[in-house]
Amino acid sequence: MRFVVATNNLHKIVELKPLFPCHELLMPSDLGINEFCPEENGKTFFENAYIKARSLYELLGIPSMADDSGLCVEALGGKPGIGSARYGSNGKELLAASEKNSLLLSELAGVSNRNCAFVCCLVFYYGKQRFMCVQETLEGEIAGSPSGKGGFGYDPIVYLPQYGKTVAELSADEKNRISHRGKAAQRMATMLATLSLGCRD
Ligand code: IMP
Repeated sequence: MRFVVATNNLHKIVELKPLFPCHELLMPSDLGINEFCPEENGKTFFENAYIKARSLYELLGIPSMADDSGLCVEALGGKPGIGSARYGSNGKELLAASEKNSLLLSELAGVSNRNCAFVCCLVFYYGKQRFMCVQETLEGEIAGSPSGKGGFGYDPIVYLPQYGKTVAELSADEKNRISHRGKAAQRMATMLATLSLGCRD
């Protein structure tokens, strides 16, 4: 099946493509939409993913998938959460990932509860009032300092005790097997197989 992913974030597409080997994933820019920025005014990951998937479906009339994701830190009451991309920007230009990571580490200086979870909600919108949704997590701990060069965003500061590594120290395959986005995508791929909308192979 051919579907469009409601994101301008190349990192997300790179992670998602191998998880849907039987489908053709397009970016809005592949279909002439260079700036796809619907107002993400939801209060949850689900609401924002739903807004993005539905808006793109209504714009293009082809099945659309949206991801809304972020990092929830227990000691910060779940922040930055749905505000992960805009964390620390105060409505101005977005901070670079390394600046967001430094800010988060400074907010947690001296805090012993380091529990955190990446969350990813995927919504696949494929017809008027027809959609499927799945949400998954990857739990870890905020590290003392950044480590690793893989992945993107907050990956260098999320430590996984069971692997003895940060998410940025995992290979792309390892991350996809265990990550919030990887697990949500595997479940979504299983659900897509139940639709009779056709498959490339
Ligand atoms: P969104 O594009 O509104 O879903 O924003 C998601 C933000 O959450 C990204 O810009 C990253 O800062 C963060 N994020 C989501 N998933 C990951 C991940 O897998 N690794 C690191 N950071 C992530």
